[in-house]
Amino acid sequence: MTQDVIRLSSLLEVMGELELYDITIIGGGPVGLFGAYYAGLRQMKTKIIDSLAELGGQVTALYPEKYIFDVAGLPKISGKELVKNLVEQASQYHPMVCLEERVQNVRKQGDLFIIATQKQQHASKVVILAMGVGAFSPKKLDRVDLEKYEGKSVFYFVKDKSIFKGKRLLIVGGGDSAFDWAMNLQEMAKEITLIHRRDQFRAHEDTIKKVFSSPVKIKLFYELKGIQGKDRIETAVIYDNRTRAEEILSVDMILVNIGFSANLGPIAEWGVPVEKNTIIVNEKMETGVPGIYAAGDVITHGGKLKLIATGFGEIAIAVNQGVHFVNPKLKAFPGHSSEMSPPPLAVKVA
Ligand SMILES: Cc1cc2nc3c(=O)[nH]c(=O)nc-3n(C[C@H](O)[C@H](O)[C@H](O)COP(=O)(O)OP(=O)(O)OC[C@H]3O[C@@H](n4cnc5c(N)ncnc54)[C@H](O)[C@@H]3O)c2cc1C
Repeated sequence: MTQDVIRLSSLLEVMGELELYDITIIGGGPVGLFGAYYAGLRQMKTKIIDSLAELGGQVTALYPEKYIFDVAGLPKISGKELVKNLVEQASQYHPMVCLEERVQNVRKQGDLFIIATQKQQHASKVVILAMGVGAFSPKKLDRVDLEKYEGKSVFYFVKDKSIFKGKRLLIVGGGDSAFDWAMNLQEMAKEITLIHRRDQFRAHEDTIKKVFSSPVKIKLFYELKGIQGKDRIETAVIYDNRTRAEEILSVDMILVNIGFSANLGPIAEWGVPVEKNTIIVNEKMETGVPGIYAAGDVITHGGKLKLIATGFGEIAIAVNQGVHFVNPKLKAFPGHSSEMSPPPLAVKVA
């Protein structure tokens, strides 16, 4: 068989099972999101895959309430607002977004890439790695096994506030997410108790003040010791870590917001050159594997700075080079957006 016949047969095999995308971006952080916008602008059929349940990468996971001052054209913007704007900008071109999927492997099949996650496989002509410091996953409590309640009465993210309607909610944590949800779920939950293992917080000062002066019961130096209930939680045993005194709370749901861990995993096995947990790229954001590009915090090059501003420039290069790879008749230079018509179906993201 000639090389072309092998390519065609593997293409047909893949197309029979999987929908083919032009550009798949692994990582829905600020850099991946801006990449999705650019790929849409270039009329590419685009997909974003992220391990988290929400878009925004480090900004959403670690500092949504902090202000950022060094994004071009925006003198001051909160992390949350920046992500909202990026999502709105990218959504104009309706990229496919696959959340809670951690990419485990990227392999070449003929001219295409097959991207495997814990849930399914994806097929793409070009892959852009915008994986930041690695796949984020919520930290879990080491001492209490909550697994059998997860998704029913134990949550790490809030996707739908209404599930907390009329419930007695226990929030574990002292960071931005814990305080944000303590504030935002008051209208839904019947009552909220927030426990935190110390008396220092990693949350926005203003939100902390608001929660302290709200009906939320705050118990400092308290940790979760155990839970009772058959399929659903009925009570939670908490204890004071200074005195070891225990208390039993009647609760229906627990929201654990104690941070995130990040792991890049075995990316070297995907064939890309790796140095100190970062991917080496050239000035075109090429990784050395034709068709795989990389941008943002995950890359290294001579002048690399791990900043949102530099990541935006890198992903613009990666996407436009990827466009040229998908269709060599299309130039890498995209033209000026100011001279293009806006997308026909612009949507606003809430
Ligand atoms: C506290 C703090 C404050 C900061 N302040 C600023 C600031 O003021 N200005 C500034 O410019 N920068 C700031 N930064 C840095 C900035 O947040 C990063 O440079 C930026 O987030 C990098 O974007 P990214 O999209 O490359 O990566 P990330 O934001 O890390 O996003 C990568 C995404 O890829 C996903 N991912 C990774 N691996 C996989 C996989 N295998 N499968 C599926 N998904 C995967 C992750 O879950 C994540 O969502 C700050 C960082 C921190 C921690």
